[in-house]
Amino acid sequence: MKRLQAFYSDIFVLPLPDHHRFPMAKYSVLRERVAEHLPEVDLSIPGPATDEELLRVHCAEYVRAVETGTVEKQAARRVGFPWSPQLVERSRRSAGGTLAAARAASGDGRIAVNLAGGTHHAFADRGEGFCVFNDAAVAARAMQAEKRARRVLVVDCDVHQGNGTAAIFRSDPSVFTLSLHGARNFPFHKEDSDLDVALRDGTGDDEYLECLEQALSRVLSVFSPDLAIYLAGADPFVGDRLGKLALTKNGLRRRDELVLGVLHEDDIPVAVVMAGGYAPDVDDIVDIHFETVRVASSLARR
Ligand SMILES: [Zn+2]
Repeated sequence: MKRLQAFYSDIFVLPLPDHHRFPMAKYSVLRERVAEHLPEVDLSIPGPATDEELLRVHCAEYVRAVETGTVEKQAARRVGFPWSPQLVERSRRSAGGTLAAARAASGDGRIAVNLAGGTHHAFADRGEGFCVFNDAAVAARAMQAEKRARRVLVVDCDVHQGNGTAAIFRSDPSVFTLSLHGARNFPFHKEDSDLDVALRDGTGDDEYLECLEQALSRVLSVFSPDLAIYLAGADPFVGDRLGKLALTKNGLRRRDELVLGVLHEDDIPVAVVMAGGYAPDVDDIVDIHFETVRVASSLARR
């Protein structure tokens, strides 16, 4: 019986000024809940993504500016977090967690989890929307460089479009980007993914799941990935402050079962990352992320 590998670092909980509204606590609460209720999950601390790993995706000028805190003011404001050495360390470890999960999954794990990640609004030369480095892109490029995967599929179910990921891989046929997102939500200028599914405000469980199922079967009929990276955002939840969709917790669990079940069925290794979640009550966010980890763990054991 296989145990699910999960990656977590205390630096995921960035110390932020009090007025900041980003729900940082979700990471540590999730980690505690996984440790307590899923003893079959192996938790380890990921290393930081190295310069070499970051530079396969990001421009050298941008990486240096992030590192030294010299990102131009307006560009820094688009990220939304105040610069600090901890922000740099967190961004590197968060990408490192997705990298570690991708390595574990493409080894004999088949499925592994980063208890953070999903920073899909980061472009090659800039960040936005709480995203500094694009973890899925860094992991995809690393898996290709390490010859662990030739073709990578990104399944982005965060409620916001994966604009950074779409732009990074725009002219790269070896990485397929699928994004299911709110049509009228941030980012208001959308990039072209290989397949975009734009959903109307108020979309509920059944409609969402039907669209997702169709999208997955369409993708897998034209693209056969060696590895998938799944962004299991908690923000399509009906109670999310930034979501605008209306999925229930039950619907989100069925979403996870659908994505991970289809990939498992096709024997495609998958790295799962948490991505967004902005419900006012942190416990609601953690409930959703926890179920994602639980579904992943039950598949790892099969
Ligand atoms: Zn989001």
